[in-house]
Amino acid sequence: MNDYQFLAKLYGVRGSYPIAPMEGTKIGGNTACMLVRTPEHVVILDAGSGIIRLGKELIPEILNYNKETGSLFHITILFTHTHTDHLLGFPFFAPIYMPGVHIHFFGPATLGMPFKEIMSTQVIPQYFPVSMDEFRSKKSFQNIDENMYIYFNPGNPEPQIGHVFESESAFSVLSIYNMKYYFHPKDGSYPYRVEWQDKKIVFATDVEEYAGGDQRLISFARNADVLIHDAQYSEEQYKRFAGYGHSSIKAACDAARQAEVKQLLLYHHDPNNSDQVLKEMEKEARKLFPASELATENWEWRL
Ligand SMILES: [Zn+2]
Ligand SMILES: [Zn+2]
Repeated sequence: MNDYQFLAKLYGVRGSYPIAPMEGTKIGGNTACMLVRTPEHVVILDAGSGIIRLGKELIPEILNYNKETGSLFHITILFTHTHTDHLLGFPFFAPIYMPGVHIHFFGPATLGMPFKEIMSTQVIPQYFPVSMDEFRSKKSFQNIDENMYIYFNPGNPEPQIGHVFESESAFSVLSIYNMKYYFHPKDGSYPYRVEWQDKKIVFATDVEEYAGGDQRLISFARNADVLIHDAQYSEEQYKRFAGYGHSSIKAACDAARQAEVKQLLLYHHDPNNSDQVLKEMEKEARKLFPASELATENWEWRL
């Protein structure tokens, strides 16, 4: 049936806003979105424009599941933070219109506004023709914080919420931890660590590593198989954009080296950087951390 037990796949790798350059891009023009899943658990990290294609791909599976089981198809979407480039795709995510779907949204309250309110105000009639309560899927919203984690049990596609001070359910097949990262304007962001069996993949976008690296993030990512890390700027560009909440190539490599990860994916590409410029940045990165590569749309890790 499925040719994987675990799949991680990137659907959006661009930062700030989506691009469609006249000359095209092989690296990808869509903003942040990653799928991580098992055959029965579907989790999406961030809902940038990349989520639109993912939504279309899920339709046949959802319809088939509804028909075979007569029950709702569950999708969990976790947000690193709610800047526009990380949520602009959700009103165009086809499953949100499907009555056979239950979407579990998790994200941070920001500057005092609850997560549900942040999401709902994106689709008020002044901005979008369909309001949150008019989307035909069932929806739940949960504020996240760094003391909780999300896990999945076999035979149950719904996310479970654990507390880091409690011992983890022995039955969990997929667990997702988070931490609050403070250096991203104006209320931080939440990197996630996905664990499946003994494999770990860390999604750390919209983080700005200062000299020496952030030791909390480095220990959060320790020994990860894959670290997806913000690397929006070349060293030269970073001089002009220090403090904007994104890392340079060098800072990302430095974090990867200190965390002793197996592979680094450079992520959140600046929309002003052409494929050619990005390829040059990748070369620079490889001198600093050999197991570096540019994150590209359609990158996948299949186990
Ligand atoms: Zn961003
Ligand atoms: Zn951001």
